[in-house]
Amino acid sequence: MTVKTVEKETLGFQAEVKQLLQLMIHSLYSNKEIVLRELISNASDAADKLRFEALANNGLYENDSDLKIRVAFDKEARTVTISDNGIGMSRQEVIDHIGTIAKSGTREFLSALSGDQAKDANLIGQFGVGFYSSFIIAGKVTLVTRRAGSSEAVQWESAGEGDYTLETVEKPTRGTDIILHLREGEDEFLNDWKLKSIIRKYSDHITLPIVMKKSEWKDGEQVPTDEDEVVNKASALWARSKNDITEEDYREFYKHVSHDFENPLAWSHNRVEGKQEYISLLYIPGKAPFDLYDRERRHGIKLYVKRVFIMEDAEKLMPQYLRFVRGVIDSADLPLNVSREILQHSKDIDAIKAGSVKKVLGLLEDLAENKPEEYSRFWNEFGRVLKEGPGEDFGNKEKIAGLLRFASTNLDTEEQVVSLKAYIERMKEGQDKIYYITADSFAAARHSPHLEIFRKKGIEVLLLSDRVDEWLLGSLTEFDGKPLQSVAKGDLDLGKLEDEAEKEQQKKVEDESRTLVEKIQAALGDKVKEVRVTHRLTDSPACLVAGEHDLSGNLERLLKAAGQKTPESRPVLEVNPGHRLLELLKAENEPARFDDLAHVLFDQALLAEGGQLDDPASFVKRMNSLLA
Ligand code: ADP
Repeated sequence: MTVKTVEKETLGFQAEVKQLLQLMIHSLYSNKEIVLRELISNASDAADKLRFEALANNGLYENDSDLKIRVAFDKEARTVTISDNGIGMSRQEVIDHIGTIAKSGTREFLSALSGDQAKDANLIGQFGVGFYSSFIIAGKVTLVTRRAGSSEAVQWESAGEGDYTLETVEKPTRGTDIILHLREGEDEFLNDWKLKSIIRKYSDHITLPIVMKKSEWKDGEQVPTDEDEVVNKASALWARSKNDITEEDYREFYKHVSHDFENPLAWSHNRVEGKQEYISLLYIPGKAPFDLYDRERRHGIKLYVKRVFIMEDAEKLMPQYLRFVRGVIDSADLPLNVSREILQHSKDIDAIKAGSVKKVLGLLEDLAENKPEEYSRFWNEFGRVLKEGPGEDFGNKEKIAGLLRFASTNLDTEEQVVSLKAYIERMKEGQDKIYYITADSFAAARHSPHLEIFRKKGIEVLLLSDRVDEWLLGSLTEFDGKPLQSVAKGDLDLGKLEDEAEKEQQKKVEDESRTLVEKIQAALGDKVKEVRVTHRLTDSPACLVAGEHDLSGNLERLLKAAGQKTPESRPVLEVNPGHRLLELLKAENEPARFDDLAHVLFDQALLAEGGQLDDPASFVKRMNSLLA
């Protein structure tokens, strides 16, 4: 390689890069070997991209279609070099990809850091730092690259301290060389055996040959010869027989495809034959990425056709609610020139997607059944995403519903551990519905007055307070033949859960309270649809109830907060005549005071369920006049 300076410029890193570099060097220092893994992973991606672009333009191979990665070291110069003859980068691509962190949400990510090194080290793994990991062992990094089909090569160089230089150089061969100028004390990497064992440990799954010079022993030292040696297995891992793949291989392959630093939680490797022929290797990550809710984020499936990489982030291959799944699908049937547009309307793709979704759901079912601890880890990371499932994937609704976990009054803790199946097994004699309550916080759900009668009778109620829950309930209306019923909606009919004596007592109270109820209704006027005697309350004076087909109060508030119009609906006010406040109302003869009391009753019922008063000042005024 002859380096001839044509034009040299110094550029500053994007501010985030600097910060990220510092953090990474500190937090990943005990894990130095991954540097090689990251760079080899990038080199392999670059070869994949070249192969794909060359499908349309064979000239890009420049008469060299023997793609490989080379690792070399130089004891004298104290460098380790990783070279590939993949796609390479243009000057602008170097600026965009190496000088910038092209990830949405980076700023948010950095502001989420706590300063606690152990915690932040975890986060950096989720973020994935790739190329920048070089600076863990290198005090200076030189990257020389030439894009396939272009004659201009560029050299990028940086000590990872705020700026980098770019200059035009000559590079006869296409692709990228990365030269790590090792920091003081990192000489262990200048060792043939060490490098080869790192490659075998972390990069054995790489499809491309990773080549090093064969070495021989001379005077008690290993010295490189001129002969090449392929260090890794160099075959597509997913195409190998399961028996030939170790757990370690699977884990390292996951880190390569997902750009994640942590181990996956579980995986499913399948060879499908028949009408559709494809191989899938699908992973559930151990941790949610920091941008799980970012709509722009990358999806996780890489599509290959007969081992040729076609595209990253093939969003058509996994539904949104499984967007955390990572892995590879390799089809034997799709044409090599398949594009995103073709995927949109491909029946083959629909079939592959359906099959793959089944595999993922099966994998989750297996975890839930046989490895409950791992499943609860999964649930804590991705449960809220899975809750989008019943609304998105009608065909698998029941299956997904079986995987859902909720908090409930059974344990009365915020942990989401109750499955619908477990709920049904605990149902009371005569109970035919699955009861739930939604609220905008766990505390509001748990303390809701609507739960009083259920607690008294020992009937379990699911406590739902995730934002996605209202959306979930819009599509999940029953499970295993049992309807899901909000305890805050409609006329509560406990059916067989109430005995005759209770029903008679209720009737008696209703008769006795008729005049009082009518008076309250008259005082509140348009504020309520109806006032009636409650079945739900034992301790509280009143609560609001939505109509069976109306939006719940919680959903109405969520929609309003999101700036959406909601249909005009008035709640029902249910009152508890056994409560002291209602006895006071009953005895109240002065109309103005009755009016104040009735309004306060309504307003506090609204407050108790997390609602907002239309007119807080009037509420305070009424309260004060009553207190005085
Ligand atoms: P990631 O691999 O997670 O995208 P990196 O920081 O490792 O993040 O790399 C950033 C980008 O730089 C890559 O997405 C790729 O576009 C480019 N890149 C890195 N290494 C190479 C390489 N050897 N050949 C071509 N492009 C590369």
